[in-house]
Amino acid sequence: MRPLIAGNWKMHGSLSEAAALAGAIKAGLAEAGAAELLVCPPFPYVQPVIAALAGAAIAVGGQDCHAAAKGAHTGDVAAAMLRDIGATHVILGHSERRANHGETDAVVRAKAEAALAAGLTPVVCVGESEAQRLAGEAEPVVTGQLDGSLPEGFAAAGGVVAYEPVWAIGTGRTPTEAEIAAIHQAIRGKLLARFGAAGGGLRILYGGSMKPSNAAAILALANVDGGLVGGASLVAADFLAIAAGA
Ligand code: PGA
Repeated sequence: MRPLIAGNWKMHGSLSEAAALAGAIKAGLAEAGAAELLVCPPFPYVQPVIAALAGAAIAVGGQDCHAAAKGAHTGDVAAAMLRDIGATHVILGHSERRANHGETDAVVRAKAEAALAAGLTPVVCVGESEAQRLAGEAEPVVTGQLDGSLPEGFAAAGGVVAYEPVWAIGTGRTPTEAEIAAIHQAIRGKLLARFGAAGGGLRILYGGSMKPSNAAAILALANVDGGLVGGASLVAADFLAIAAGA
């Protein structure tokens, strides 16, 4: 499976910084090896980044969308709007949205359905809290989130799952390689059980403090088909180095 290295820029940067980062990634694309690249800028910068990346094989996505196709939803963005300007992916159910905006599995599933209807590839995030990990509940929490968050058409559309332990995001801490492999194996089992053979071809990304120094070892694990990278995706050389390790 061709690995996918996705950059989650979160709420960082300015217009000029977004364009410069996109330009630097485009200029260094040859260093990224065989990995497929995706960058997800803040909404105002999605279209400018698409323009900056014109002609380069780098996908651009949003970091959220609304579950409705259109309507009276002040401040929200529809999946079709992202598709309309040339985005191809959307991150959904990131733990920061689950925590800060109260997004439940049902909300994430509805958003994923909207993304599929608009022709966007959803990147659905799951992951346990530190308390859940310490209580030995990481695996049931993650598989439960998958049950609730993935819509029926997910596999047919080539949806992406991102496993991001909440306690590893932005902390510099990661699970051990054995712990990552165990969760990814459980996610694969869940995808196969739910979607049959198609579940075997879906990408499962790891996210949470991925950086050039740990990426190659994590990306070499079975059922780790790429990465969702936050902080390190804001430095073009680091993002490209992570991709090169895939
Ligand atoms: P991080 O964030 O790489 O900065 O830990 C990952 C994410 O939240 O997607």
